[in-house]
Amino acid sequence: MPLLLLGCPGPDPDRREPSGFCGSGDLPQAPPPVDSALGPVAPVDLQSVHTQVRVTTGGLEVTSTATLLVGERDARPVLELRPDPAEARLDGAPVALERVTVSRPGREVVVLPALDPCTEHVLELSYTLAPDWLLGEGDQTRMEVYGEGVFWAAGLEDDAPGKFLSMWMPSNLLFDRFDVALDIDVSALAGPHEILATGTTVETDAGWSLEWDRTLAHSPYWVISPTALTVRASRVAALEDGPVTVEVRALSMDDGADVEEAAERAEAALTEFSAAFGPYHHGDRYLVWIRDEQQSSMEYDGATLTAMGAIEHEIMHSWFARGAAPVADLHGWVDEAVTSWVTDILPYRAVPIPYDTDPMVLQVGDDEWAGPELGVGQYVFGSSIFAGIADAHGVDATVEALGAFYVAWAGRSYRSADLEEHLTCWFDDDEVRHAFRHRAYGLEGPPGPRPFHWCR
Ligand SMILES: [Zn+2]
Repeated sequence: MPLLLLGCPGPDPDRREPSGFCGSGDLPQAPPPVDSALGPVAPVDLQSVHTQVRVTTGGLEVTSTATLLVGERDARPVLELRPDPAEARLDGAPVALERVTVSRPGREVVVLPALDPCTEHVLELSYTLAPDWLLGEGDQTRMEVYGEGVFWAAGLEDDAPGKFLSMWMPSNLLFDRFDVALDIDVSALAGPHEILATGTTVETDAGWSLEWDRTLAHSPYWVISPTALTVRASRVAALEDGPVTVEVRALSMDDGADVEEAAERAEAALTEFSAAFGPYHHGDRYLVWIRDEQQSSMEYDGATLTAMGAIEHEIMHSWFARGAAPVADLHGWVDEAVTSWVTDILPYRAVPIPYDTDPMVLQVGDDEWAGPELGVGQYVFGSSIFAGIADAHGVDATVEALGAFYVAWAGRSYRSADLEEHLTCWFDDDEVRHAFRHRAYGLEGPPGPRPFHWCR
């Protein structure tokens, strides 16, 4: 049965409370309720997700328990989940999970029955996932079977909706931070396996128990691999705020993967970025899995699964993307823009913004339900904003300004307007707003008056 939390008002159909009036504090950052084909829907505040996975050569056998808090009165609660559960129970009773698409780019959410606000509920699910689950062309390799051994990685991606944690278990939009526990059972596999994972890892009789505290849907990172097929290297980066151990692994048959070179480059990148932008935010380890044949590489909190060519780019994301993180996918273009400016073929370039060309749209509207839609523009045209600021104010001053933003926002979630405001006030320069308008928001002409509440 649902628990009625202390201090919450009881159901009252005439009263409309704002999001987050009874929650753990994440709902005020959530997008507001939205109309859907199934009526108004609103995000829940996930408290915790505990998932158990038995890994076999035939795929994954999954059970997952999510505890969630309902915040809205007049909207059905939704969360994200890609698998179709064979069995679903809400507070112990069987429940039908409906699906609906909200926003553009489309984000598919799972819709729960209407529930009283300020009540906590338990959703229990079970399902199996085949080794080729969700593997599309150009996608990261997530599961591969080698004889009686298995490679299985979180394999998250941010180029399209539904490719974060909800690929594996109940999850939520990016605003939400929740506890994740993942028990991995490899007892059905032959031969020893090993794991590379962020968070807390504890060995168990069957495999490992992993835990991440108040993490974001794009952050949990794990890779398991047959020990006999795994090569490794490590190095210690002596950063100003303390040593960070770089651990690099790859499959031995991945011809392009050079773990020694990767470790050396990771050490250099961590040293450069921490000196330039501020302290590394993810403890005393940085983890790298090289899959050099992959077309897509991905950043996590203090980790990456990457091709050789993207190592520096993904490490820079531990400052912009996973140090300071976007509150919604809509704002993710900022991470690619800053990171590309720092790690491109022409890093830290200073080039005037070509205001006589057509405006670029990197951020469409302000619908924070929208899923990610990464394209070349975010990298190439996004970075031109910072090239333009560097042309106006100097490269060193631009690095300093971005570092100050990172230090202020590390561990928190930002919107693109937060960076726009920070840079405008830092330089006392409304050209920054012109640059964001022309290169990201797709708007013609110079900006109007500076918002009155900025720079105070
Ligand atoms: Zn990137």
